Amino acid sequence: MSAIRSDPTAVIEPHADMTIDEVRGAFRRWLIERADSLERFTELPTDVEGIFATLSAMQRELYDAGWIRMGWPQQLGGLGGALILRAVVSEELAAAGYPPPFSFATQEVLGPAVARFAPADLSEQVLPRLLRGDESWCQGFSEPGAGSDLASLRTKAVDAGDHWIVSGEKIWTSWAQFADRCLLLTRTGTPDSAHRGITALFVDMNTPGITVSPLTAITGEADFSSLFFDEVRVPKSRTIGGVGHGWEVAMFILSCERGAAAWQRQAWMRWRLERLVVEAPDLDPVQLGEAFELVGALRLLSRRTLRALNAGEDLGVLPSFDKYVMSTAEKFLFDTALTALPETLLVETDRTARDWRTDYLYSRASSIYGGAKEIQRNIISERILGLPREK
Ligand SMILES: Cc1cc2nc3c(=O)[nH]c(=O)nc-3n(C[C@H](O)[C@H](O)[C@H](O)COP(=O)(O)OP(=O)(O)OC[C@H]3O[C@@H](n4cnc5c(N)ncnc54)[C@H](O)[C@@H]3O)c2cc1C
Repeated sequence: MSAIRSDPTAVIEPHADMTIDEVRGAFRRWLIERADSLERFTELPTDVEGIFATLSAMQRELYDAGWIRMGWPQQLGGLGGALILRAVVSEELAAAGYPPPFSFATQEVLGPAVARFAPADLSEQVLPRLLRGDESWCQGFSEPGAGSDLASLRTKAVDAGDHWIVSGEKIWTSWAQFADRCLLLTRTGTPDSAHRGITALFVDMNTPGITVSPLTAITGEADFSSLFFDEVRVPKSRTIGGVGHGWEVAMFILSCERGAAAWQRQAWMRWRLERLVVEAPDLDPVQLGEAFELVGALRLLSRRTLRALNAGEDLGVLPSFDKYVMSTAEKFLFDTALTALPETLLVETDRTARDWRTDYLYSRASSIYGGAKEIQRNIISERILGLPREK
């Protein structure tokens, strides 16, 4: 853990009216005060089940103490106040050497979509459970044949009166084997209705007809799964955002992925870069400088996005820059680690080596998940820079 100076001031309970500086100071003090009991979260188990359980427990501690309830409305289990307050919490958590809880990705990505688009009684029921780590959700978007071209998805939902009958297949669904619910994109329009015929559903994963088949990633762990839907009944009350409006829900989710979730990622990369400097003191200064610049650029971009989201502004496709820089920075950082610590990454077997190796391997996926890098380039060139479309 990085050094946090001890402060004798009493620990302050989080509340919605705190300033950013007050949250920062009070959360640091809380981390110091609780350092002994939080220590178990710095050393994660090696298997994905163990990691998931440990991070869920960490999330519960943060929720029960109020820190990650900031910025969420009270009726959804929050304390109210601005979203930026819990962004400060995630930054301090990373700076103190704690891993980002898995569920932060879900919380900050799917949570805001359910808060915004789901019927009030549903969001009031499920969001407090998500925020506390009592349940987890997965994102059922990609299909074999519909990744970058998401609007061509084929999992169909057929209108059957008070419910939908869902059939089809999803793939690369992160941590689906642990998920209690799935935010699922389905085709309710004609097969060629593209983005206009998509409806988002909120599906309980224990509904009969759903099969989860874990897939082993390059890390050696089952980081994602295939999902098979065989005539699954989903009540109409689980429709999110209205029939035929699933594309709006999906685009909002992607903007969240590039907002608060990207902010957490940069905070974590910053901490990883600090570790690299400590563990590889002979690191090439030019490489170090470039890694620092890239992580710094991501920080500035995602700070802008976060502030805009906090102010309720619509950023359109601008956060494609954030996603592009995020994958560039992450890959460069871990390429630098491989150059600086080749034996650690390639040969050694202790915990430090394993963590570097896993992070290096996962960084390869950063230019694929959440929208591939080539797609971000297309969006930036065509929709932001106004360059002509490729024929
Ligand atoms: C670690 C990880 C976790 C994931 N988690 C989830 C999840 O939880 N939920 C979920 O729904 N999905 C998830 N995904 C899937 C991810 O969203 C897709 O992999 C991604 O959208 C790319 O789709 P694809 O794999 O079908 O590749 P394709 O779309 O087949 O693309 C293959 C290659 O072709 C390029 N390409 C495609 N179209 C164009 C074009 N028009 N112009 C230029 N180049 C193009 C792409 O950039 C890419 O390099 C995850 C993926 C990974 C790696």
